[in-house]
Amino acid sequence: MALAYRPEKEEIIQSIINGVKGQEAIVDDDAFFCLDYTSFCSGTCLYCAKSRNNWDLKRERMSPEEVPEGFREAYEKGIRKFFLYGGADLYFDREKVSDIIRRIKEIYTGCELYLAVGEKVFEDFQAYLEAGLDGYVLFHRSANADHFCKLHTLESYPDFRMKMLPPLKQMGLKIGTGITVGWPYQTAEILAEDVAFLMELEPDLVVIDAFRPEEGTEFESFPKGDRKQQENLVKLVRKIFPDIRILTHL
Ligand code: SF4
Repeated sequence: MALAYRPEKEEIIQSIINGVKGQEAIVDDDAFFCLDYTSFCSGTCLYCAKSRNNWDLKRERMSPEEVPEGFREAYEKGIRKFFLYGGADLYFDREKVSDIIRRIKEIYTGCELYLAVGEKVFEDFQAYLEAGLDGYVLFHRSANADHFCKLHTLESYPDFRMKMLPPLKQMGLKIGTGITVGWPYQTAEILAEDVAFLMELEPDLVVIDAFRPEEGTEFESFPKGDRKQQENLVKLVRKIFPDIRILTHL
């Protein structure tokens, strides 16, 4: 994904705060159909209601047979880009996920499928690729190690996901990550580090959202992320990468 513009850190910060003049915030939300298939999760991310530590959440999962069917209506409406995501649900082992990918690719000719189900081992990604997966989205959450640690328990390592993404690209998968505006303890400098990481990674897809405090989490009383800053960030990323896919409404 070629860079059309390579701003310095101070320019990034100013663009996030003041906006990017003359640049449209073009997103690809309408081109994608997104399906969340399980709220079970073995993870413990402090911002997420799906954390296994949230005992109040009523958990639901689609069956392996139901997941491919979840895309039928969207396909019939002409949507060909699918985004399948969910918690790190141990029920869906390598074989089940690979079968789901295979089914989706068989049923929906010409579709492009991205998957996001958290951290996996190399053999999982290899199996997904062989089953026909087009892309994998791994949210790095924060490129600043100290900040990452404020959002996660000791089970998650700051740069693990950042280091996992380039090998996925080398394997032949398209890759994606995300930037969230307004995380607790985030500063404009930290956001600039996320943008710098994006420029280094050159992903195919990026999710740019604004922080939404979720009930039952450590951060439920923190303020929402700033929508204007989110739009500014979309404009900046679009200016840097004219061809990247940007999703904003996951
Ligand atoms: S962010 Fe993902 S891995 Fe972390 S708790 Fe939520 S669903 Fe699980």
